[in-house]
Amino acid sequence: MSKHKHLAALPLGGVGIIGTNMMVYDCDGDLIVVDAGVSFPDESAPGTDVIVPDTRFLREHAKQIKAIFITHAHEDHIGAVGYLWDDFAGAPVFASPLSQMVIQGKLAELGIKPAKGQMRTVTTREQYVAGNFSVEYVPVSHSIPEAFALAIRTSYGTIVHTGDYKFDDVAPFGQITDEKRLAEIGAEGVLAVFGDSTNVLNPKETGSEGPVIAHLTKLVTETKGRIIFAAFASHFGRTFEIAKVAAKNGRKVAFLGRTINKFIQHSKQLGYWPKELNNWVIDAEEAAGLPPEKVFIFASGTQGEPGSSLTRLSQGADVRGLRIKSGDTVIMSSKMIPGNEKGILAVINGFALAGANIITELTDKNIHVSGHPGAPDVKRMY
Ligand SMILES: [Zn+2]
Repeated sequence: MSKHKHLAALPLGGVGIIGTNMMVYDCDGDLIVVDAGVSFPDESAPGTDVIVPDTRFLREHAKQIKAIFITHAHEDHIGAVGYLWDDFAGAPVFASPLSQMVIQGKLAELGIKPAKGQMRTVTTREQYVAGNFSVEYVPVSHSIPEAFALAIRTSYGTIVHTGDYKFDDVAPFGQITDEKRLAEIGAEGVLAVFGDSTNVLNPKETGSEGPVIAHLTKLVTETKGRIIFAAFASHFGRTFEIAKVAAKNGRKVAFLGRTINKFIQHSKQLGYWPKELNNWVIDAEEAAGLPPEKVFIFASGTQGEPGSSLTRLSQGADVRGLRIKSGDTVIMSSKMIPGNEKGILAVINGFALAGANIITELTDKNIHVSGHPGAPDVKRMY
């Protein structure tokens, strides 16, 4: 392959399925890898914890790998970095500050220490050279901050690798898709666009985060009893906004779940943590002793994951002193990811049996919006 002049794209995962995103680009024998994600198995793969891309090709061409470029910190884009670390053969890993922190945490858990200078933090409007490639990060809106499309320049022309994106003028932390820069890159001439969407079958535009925040604000303000709020931990921009509303209404806030607490730590280091919450966060044990109208609990586990705080609460378990009670309101600000219906419905049933008021996308379409583009948004990107 490397003897001939060529530019090639080789997806090692993520095409035709949700998760395990990994794309390899090959320019005259130099390789770059974009993302290294996992997916989570269903009952067809019992005993499997995670699924990673098939990287035999990388092992066979280890000497040609020039760099790894990470688009954003979702599990389906970075979850496999640690598991596949040796396959990257010491190549530098380019990622944003948040993605770096999440990756470094995963590597530390696996006892992996990157070589000095191997982890490279990116910023926008820079060209990162890796062999025959030069890569620029362009900000895009998504359901996690610091998501980027990549403009990958080669002697054959430019490839735009969109990563996950949407168009949203009021995205959390002001991370708006940089359409101006994308248009400039488009005007230079683009050879190919490799786009990513789990929503392409949706004939409508994906809505904005703004109306969802407004709707959740109203719900939290009007609810009388205790509130248990569940959302994807990585979508902490939404969670912080709603926690601020709760605090404004005199509620103390407790965060249950390992992942959300890690994101809170990262947020404090990176400046995403809202100062308005500083004196309002308490632990679960303290929340258990407060009157219901004074408490807002974030519970992880929107997909009915066994052992998650939300699932355990729905089963009537004692979660660090907290137990579901009649009169509690549970808000699940998330979508049902296909394949997880059984677990999620069991959670909903559990809360209903306990006499809780439960609000999900099944009864209220306005409590969640996707981070992926619908068909008209995909056209807009092109
Ligand atoms: Zn994503």
